[in-house]
Amino acid sequence: MWPKGIRCGVCLSFDFDAESLSLGYIERLRYEGSPKRYPKTLTPISRGQYGAKVGIPRILRFLEAHNIKATFFTPGFTADLYPDLIKRIASEGHELANHGYFHENPTDFMEDRRRERDVLRRGNDTLERYCGVRPVGYRSPGWDLNTYTPELLLEEGFIYDSSLMDQEHPYILEASNGKRLVEIPIDWLLDDYVHFQFSPPNIPGLSPPSKVLEIWQGEFDGYYEEGGCFVLTMHPQVIGRTHRMKMLERLVQYIKEKQGVWFATCREVAEYWLSK
Ligand SMILES: [Zn+2]
Repeated sequence: MWPKGIRCGVCLSFDFDAESLSLGYIERLRYEGSPKRYPKTLTPISRGQYGAKVGIPRILRFLEAHNIKATFFTPGFTADLYPDLIKRIASEGHELANHGYFHENPTDFMEDRRRERDVLRRGNDTLERYCGVRPVGYRSPGWDLNTYTPELLLEEGFIYDSSLMDQEHPYILEASNGKRLVEIPIDWLLDDYVHFQFSPPNIPGLSPPSKVLEIWQGEFDGYYEEGGCFVLTMHPQVIGRTHRMKMLERLVQYIKEKQGVWFATCREVAEYWLSK
């Protein structure tokens, strides 16, 4: 499945949500003309800000030290709040990919393709304005797609999606007109948020990193043995804590000791898959 000499792909991906989960939701209601209103309060907003202020600089230092290029799925709203960070991420060779504008779950649009298309375009226009490259990848902020979303992504010039959970390696979704979209599957097991982020009442989070290292390392071993594409989904406000970054360091060291591992951006994996 992989280029000569490669037996396993590894994609480190970061969903740079920042304040889009808190302030972004409030701003979205206003933008959409909704009568609902929520007060702006500081602590939930600051929780997202930690990702930008502390998480991203720490992650960029880590990636540079390991000479790894990563993919940052970033809502346009985050980019408008932190244009300098977006430019820095791009200038250091990482990929910026679409994650909506206000972190919209596409299934909220209830079959309204026009609104879903607007969100995709607004997200891409914003990222392109700051980094000079139009994104070609999408990860749904709701980790869910409408049945027509893959076709919409193709119409908007995307080459891959990373939101589905049915495989451990990339594959091709073929539209009725023969156009091909690469799917790069993810899984909740390989997401830092559910393990770590304290989000009552549904997500207790706060796992010790030793537990998560055991799960992620065990999963990587399986992907390596079977030639899969190991995709980690991380959030700067979550993984960015020191003790969790040390866990990531141990995991990356472990992976680097294996022969034939390709650390790649999602875009590189998608382009390779399309070229086969
Ligand atoms: Zn997100």
